[in-house]
Amino acid sequence: MVALRGKIRQNVSMERLFDLIMPEYCVICGARGRALCDACQQEIIEESSNFCLECGNFIVDNCHDCRLPYQKSYAVGFRDETIGAIAEKFKFSKKRSLAHHIVDILVSILPDFSPDVVIVPVPTIKKHVRVRGLDHTKKIAKKLAKAKKCQSLPLILRANDSVQVGANAKQRLEQAKKAFKINEKVLKKVLDDGGEVVLYDDISTTGSTIKECAKLLKKSGIKHISVAILAKNR
Ligand SMILES: [Zn+2]
Ligand SMILES: [Zn+2]
Repeated sequence: MVALRGKIRQNVSMERLFDLIMPEYCVICGARGRALCDACQQEIIEESSNFCLECGNFIVDNCHDCRLPYQKSYAVGFRDETIGAIAEKFKFSKKRSLAHHIVDILVSILPDFSPDVVIVPVPTIKKHVRVRGLDHTKKIAKKLAKAKKCQSLPLILRANDSVQVGANAKQRLEQAKKAFKINEKVLKKVLDDGGEVVLYDDISTTGSTIKECAKLLKKSGIKHISVAILAKNR
């Protein structure tokens, strides 16, 4: 008990020490304390409402109007909203301490998962991982799996490293069709575990990446596919 109290005291003082040396400021409102303050995080959660990634109509977890290669989808918000800014700050500004806030937000909008569910990150282009020093979708998928007490596996791999930035919708679709392949080594385990997958991506620009990844999973025998993203372009 005494040792535990000592440890807590030690952690608290370490936190204070870190705050003195490298103070964190909320990336949205600038308040001192954390990378995302409680008030801004709460606002994102309260303002989130789910919508179809294809047509943008509000949905509970699936759209009755669109034919999609996945059954359910969950999004926190749109790219021009606060969540879009958070996703970009995490990806491009190396603000790693945002990771657990992003996971907290995702947990609050997602339903319960069975322990056999596999969270699959949309794989990042290797060059981008090298430049950013961070595989942002892999990191969030891992942390999210830990929080949801399920697993995260690299079921989808990059087949080539073509860059999508700047390409128009038609070009992006063509690129997305050739960009991914299934990780055969992981596929057997996922199918043995019941074949239930949640695809995770941070930002969906045209939706083509998510759809192509879902089609690939479907072709590989995965029957239950959900999608989780942070933000979608309007
Ligand atoms: Zn704030
Ligand atoms: Zn729709």
